[in-house]
Amino acid sequence: MILPEFMKKNEPLAKHTTLGVGGKARYFATITNDIHLTTLNSWLIQHKERLEFFNLGGGSNVLFSDKGFDGLIIKNKIKIFSYSGSAWRIGAGNLMSEIVALAANNGIAGFEWAAGLPGTVGGAIYGNAGCYGGQMWDCLESVRYFELNDATGRPLEVRTEPYMFSYRQSIFKSKPQNIIISATLKISKNPRNIAAVQSKTKSIHEERQKNNPKERSIGCIFKNPTAIPKGEKELKSAGWLIEKAGLKGLCYGSSSISTVHANFFVNDFRGLSNLGLVLPANDMIELIKIAKGRVYEKFGILLEEEIIRVGEF
Ligand SMILES: Cc1cc2nc3c(=O)[nH]c(=O)nc-3n(C[C@H](O)[C@H](O)[C@H](O)COP(=O)(O)OP(=O)(O)OC[C@H]3O[C@@H](n4cnc5c(N)ncnc54)[C@H](O)[C@@H]3O)c2cc1C
Repeated sequence: MILPEFMKKNEPLAKHTTLGVGGKARYFATITNDIHLTTLNSWLIQHKERLEFFNLGGGSNVLFSDKGFDGLIIKNKIKIFSYSGSAWRIGAGNLMSEIVALAANNGIAGFEWAAGLPGTVGGAIYGNAGCYGGQMWDCLESVRYFELNDATGRPLEVRTEPYMFSYRQSIFKSKPQNIIISATLKISKNPRNIAAVQSKTKSIHEERQKNNPKERSIGCIFKNPTAIPKGEKELKSAGWLIEKAGLKGLCYGSSSISTVHANFFVNDFRGLSNLGLVLPANDMIELIKIAKGRVYEKFGILLEEEIIRVGEF
């Protein structure tokens, strides 16, 4: 079957993730507009076998298997910036850093929390990304999406409601066939104060640089638990539990637990270049298993993964 011009075969996934890990995708589509979506929809319907597909934004929360992905990866690069009175219409493929900069340059409060957050608007909506007292859901008014592999394939729009989001959860997680296309973001009605917004944005960005490791990662591996650990009197973060289980700095092959923040597992290929075959996704999974096991033994808490695994492990 002829591939549309925005699609490729056997694309290495490592170059599309912040971790720099992953084998090849059988098919890889880079979509930049609605026409690509309808073309892709027809292509999928005509494809003789049913293909698994996966939406990719900035790849900052995804662990691709070393074996790759025997399906279709849809990389979202739909970029839109438009203004409609009290809201911005923003493309799912816009980077969160672009939104933070736009808000700071215009003195619009409400986006400072995301200073330095990697990834796209689509990825942040999907996982309800959050940090420094903010979360994506706080910024949303509505989300436009496309239901793929449906004969009527067309864009739909939903107004966002509180029940659709919770800690690192969104309604989109239960509908993987939906591609987020764009969103309207609320703009604060407070008087604009460029200096105040820029100063808060800068300090959050600096704080993040201090707390996040410099090596390649996919952010926090685990969600923060909602139960009090054995022997403690209050809730503790996943990073705290991993550190107190004595795991900070632990290495497994090409992966190690960051010495800066124990909930970040980083990739460090230095020192491994002479060791022949390296399976970095596999190494990361082994380290995840060790951390889960040790934290469970010491604190009776079963850590839940925040990262998204894709492919066969
Ligand atoms: C150094 C570092 C620090 C981080 N700090 C934080 C933090 O403080 N808080 C936090 O919440 N996260 C953090 N993360 C994780 C990550 O940046 C966020 O989860 C981010 O929102 C993921 O966006 P992305 O575009 O990279 O999504 P991807 O990693 O590409 O995808 C993540 C999920 O979103 C889905 N998705 C992506 N785009 C779309 C779309 N258009 N339509 C439908 N589904 C889609 C994918 O299918 C996948 O399941 C950090 C990551 C790194 C590397």
